Amino acid sequence: MELWFTEWQTKNVGLTCRVKETLFMGKSEYQDIAVVDSQEFGRMLVLDGVFQTSVFDEFIYHEMIAHVPLFTHPTPQQILIIGGGDGGTLREVVKHTSVKQAEMVEIDGMVVEVCKKHLPEISVELNGNNPKVQLTIGDGIRHMKQANNKYDVIIVDCSDPIGPGEGLFTPEFYQDVYQALKEDGLFVQQTESPFYHQALLKRLAKDIRRLFPITNVYLAPIPLYPGGLHCFTMGSKKYSPIQVDTPVPPFATRYYNQQIHKSSFMLPNFIQDLLI
Ligand code: SAM
Repeated sequence: MELWFTEWQTKNVGLTCRVKETLFMGKSEYQDIAVVDSQEFGRMLVLDGVFQTSVFDEFIYHEMIAHVPLFTHPTPQQILIIGGGDGGTLREVVKHTSVKQAEMVEIDGMVVEVCKKHLPEISVELNGNNPKVQLTIGDGIRHMKQANNKYDVIIVDCSDPIGPGEGLFTPEFYQDVYQALKEDGLFVQQTESPFYHQALLKRLAKDIRRLFPITNVYLAPIPLYPGGLHCFTMGSKKYSPIQVDTPVPPFATRYYNQQIHKSSFMLPNFIQDLLI
C-alpha cells in the first residue's frame, strides 16, 4: 500500500509527500511528533502535522537563520537559540570560531531526543560533546524574562505561532529580547511565508521596528515550507546587515555566501509594500 503525508498549508492548499517509512510517531506534553522517511525530501521532522525540517533542504534554512546574523555582528560570542530542537541552527552557530557559548532553550525534550536518534546529521551538536553548547529544556519565553544585557545574537528558531510557540510572536517577547541583548546586539526570527502569512509579517515588522532602530526582512527559498519562499525578520541595535562588510565564510557552506547575504535583503515590491 502506498503511504502519503499531507501538510495542510492553508485551508485550501497542501503539500503531499510519498512516504517510504514512518520512523517515529509519538505525543509529548506539547505536541504530536513524527519522523517520516519520504521519497523526495528524505527524513523529515513533523510537529502537529507541520513539516519542520528535512534532510533534503535543511541546509538552506539553517545556514540562513544562523550565518546572516552571525556575519552581521563583528564579534558574536554569546549566542542564544530559542526552539531549534532539531539542532540544525546550533550546528551552524558553532562553526563560528568567535562563539564562546551557544545556549539553546527548547521547550520539548522529546523533540531533541527523537532528532538525536533519527536525524543525526542535523542534530550532531546535541550529542553533549561540545563544551561551548549549553542545552536547556524549558520555555524560551520564560528564559528571556530572566536575561539582561547578556547576548550578542539571539536566534528564534520557532515553530508556527500556534501552541507553545504563540508567545514568541508578541510585543512583550520582543521587549524581553531587546532587554536580553547587549547594547550592540541583534536578533533574528523565522517569520513564515510572504504569500500566506502577510498579516503576521506586517504586524511583526511593526512590533520589532518599534524597539529596534534597524529592522530588516530577508528571504530564502525553502521547498518544504508554504509557498516555497520564507521570511526571516532581523532586529538590530547597531549593525546593519546590508551595510556591513561580511567576510568570506571560513568554512564550507552549501547556500550562504557573501552575495546571498546582501541579495537576500532585496525585497520584491509586494513584500516592501507589506512592511510600510
Ligand atoms: N525550522 C522550523 C520551522 O520553521 O518550522 C522550526 C524548527 S524547531 C523544530 C521549532 C521548535 O520550537 C520546536 O521543537 C518547538 O518545540 C520549539 N518551541 C516552540 N515553542 C517554544 C517555546 N516557547 N520555547 C522554546 N521552544 C519552543
